[in-house]
Amino acid sequence: MVSHARFQQFSSKNKEELMSRIFYNNIKLYLDSEGKILPLAKKTMNRAEHLGAIVEHVTEPSSQQPRKGLFCWNKINRKACNGMIDACIDTGNFHIHWHCLKCGDHGSISHWEHTLWDKTSR
Ligand SMILES: [Zn+2]
Repeated sequence: MVSHARFQQFSSKNKEELMSRIFYNNIKLYLDSEGKILPLAKKTMNRAEHLGAIVEHVTEPSSQQPRKGLFCWNKINRKACNGMIDACIDTGNFHIHWHCLKCGDHGSISHWEHTLWDKTSR
Protein backbone atom coordinates (compact mmCIF):
# COMPACT_ATOMS: atom_id res chain seq x y z
CA MET A 1 0.00 0.00 0.00
CA VAL A 2 1.18 3.49 -0.80
CA SER A 3 0.21 6.47 1.25
CA HIS A 4 -0.46 9.67 -0.60
CA ALA A 5 -1.70 11.50 2.45
CA ARG A 6 1.08 14.03 2.37
CA PHE A 7 0.49 14.77 -1.30
CA GLN A 8 -3.26 15.19 -0.91
CA GLN A 9 -2.78 17.62 1.90
CA PHE A 10 -0.40 19.58 -0.26
CA SER A 11 -2.54 19.65 -3.39
CA SER A 12 -5.76 20.75 -1.70
CA LYS A 13 -3.98 23.69 -0.14
CA ASN A 14 -2.63 24.84 -3.50
CA LYS A 15 -5.45 23.85 -5.82
CA GLU A 16 -6.12 27.31 -7.22
CA GLU A 17 -2.58 28.27 -8.10
CA LEU A 18 -1.17 24.97 -9.25
CA MET A 19 -2.10 22.56 -11.98
CA SER A 20 -0.20 19.43 -11.20
CA ARG A 21 0.34 16.95 -13.97
CA ILE A 22 0.12 13.18 -13.90
CA PHE A 23 2.45 10.88 -15.80
CA TYR A 24 2.04 7.17 -16.36
CA ASN A 25 5.16 5.79 -17.94
CA ASN A 26 6.13 2.37 -19.16
CA ILE A 27 9.86 3.04 -19.05
CA LYS A 28 10.60 0.17 -21.44
CA LEU A 29 9.19 2.26 -24.28
CA TYR A 30 12.33 4.39 -24.14
CA LEU A 31 14.57 1.36 -24.65
CA ASP A 32 15.48 -0.85 -27.57
CA SER A 33 15.46 -4.65 -27.47
CA GLU A 34 18.97 -4.68 -25.95
CA GLY A 35 17.92 -2.33 -23.16
CA LYS A 36 19.75 0.71 -24.49
CA ILE A 37 18.11 4.13 -24.67
CA LEU A 38 16.60 4.73 -28.09
CA PRO A 39 17.75 7.71 -30.15
CA LEU A 40 15.00 10.03 -28.96
CA ALA A 41 14.17 13.67 -29.44
CA LYS A 42 15.88 15.80 -26.80
CA LYS A 43 12.72 16.48 -24.82
CA THR A 44 11.78 12.81 -24.73
CA MET A 45 15.35 11.88 -23.86
CA ASN A 46 15.27 14.28 -20.92
CA ARG A 47 12.05 12.68 -19.72
CA ALA A 48 13.60 9.21 -20.01
CA GLU A 49 16.62 10.34 -18.00
CA HIS A 50 14.50 11.94 -15.30
CA LEU A 51 12.38 8.82 -14.96
CA GLY A 52 15.51 6.69 -14.98
CA ALA A 53 16.93 8.80 -12.15
CA ILE A 54 13.79 8.10 -10.12
CA VAL A 55 14.16 4.35 -10.74
CA GLU A 56 17.84 4.49 -9.72
CA HIS A 57 16.96 6.49 -6.64
CA VAL A 58 14.30 4.08 -5.47
CA THR A 59 16.16 0.86 -6.27
CA GLU A 60 19.51 1.90 -4.83
CA PRO A 61 20.52 -0.31 -1.89
CA SER A 62 19.74 1.56 1.30
CA SER A 63 23.27 0.91 2.56
CA GLN A 64 24.45 3.67 0.25
CA GLN A 65 23.67 6.53 2.56
CA PRO A 66 23.19 9.41 2.47
CA ARG A 67 20.97 9.26 -0.59
CA LYS A 68 21.23 12.07 -3.07
CA GLY A 69 18.16 14.25 -3.23
CA LEU A 70 16.08 14.00 -6.35
CA PHE A 71 14.76 17.25 -7.73
CA CYS A 72 11.77 18.07 -9.89
CA TRP A 73 12.30 18.98 -13.55
CA ASN A 74 9.03 20.83 -13.95
CA LYS A 75 9.10 24.47 -14.98
CA ILE A 76 6.71 26.94 -13.40
CA ASN A 77 6.58 30.29 -15.17
CA ARG A 78 9.85 29.32 -16.87
CA LYS A 79 11.56 28.79 -13.53
CA ALA A 80 12.75 25.35 -12.52
CA CYS A 81 10.58 23.89 -9.80
CA ASN A 82 13.46 22.18 -7.97
CA GLY A 83 11.08 20.62 -5.47
CA MET A 84 12.10 17.37 -3.84
CA ILE A 85 10.81 14.23 -5.53
CA ASP A 86 9.40 11.64 -3.16
CA ALA A 87 9.25 8.14 -4.61
CA CYS A 88 8.56 4.60 -3.50
CA ILE A 89 7.82 1.17 -4.90
CA ASP A 90 4.24 -0.09 -4.65
CA THR A 91 4.58 -3.50 -3.03
CA GLY A 92 1.36 -4.63 -4.76
CA ASN A 93 2.11 -4.17 -8.46
CA PHE A 94 5.77 -3.00 -8.18
CA HIS A 95 5.07 0.25 -10.00
CA ILE A 96 7.20 3.12 -8.81
CA HIS A 97 5.12 6.04 -7.57
CA TRP A 98 6.64 9.48 -7.36
CA HIS A 99 5.51 13.00 -6.70
CA CYS A 100 7.02 16.44 -6.35
CA LEU A 101 6.55 17.89 -2.88
CA LYS A 102 6.47 21.40 -4.33
CA CYS A 103 4.49 21.55 -7.59
CA GLY A 104 2.52 18.32 -7.18
CA ASP A 105 3.54 16.70 -10.46
CA HIS A 106 3.27 12.99 -9.94
CA GLY A 107 3.14 9.71 -11.74
CA SER A 108 3.98 6.07 -11.82
CA ILE A 109 6.61 4.08 -13.66
CA SER A 110 6.12 0.51 -14.78
CA HIS A 111 8.36 -2.09 -16.45
CA TRP A 112 11.47 -0.66 -14.80
CA GLU A 113 12.68 -4.06 -13.59
CA HIS A 114 15.95 -5.18 -15.22
CA THR A 115 16.38 -1.90 -17.11
CA LEU A 116 19.72 -0.10 -17.05
CA TRP A 117 18.36 2.01 -14.20
CA ASP A 118 17.35 -0.90 -11.98
CA LYS A 119 19.92 -1.19 -9.18
CA THR A 120 18.26 -4.10 -7.44
CA SER A 121 19.53 -6.71 -9.90
CA ARG A 122 23.22 -5.77 -9.50
ZN1 LIG B 1 7.95 20.15 -8.95
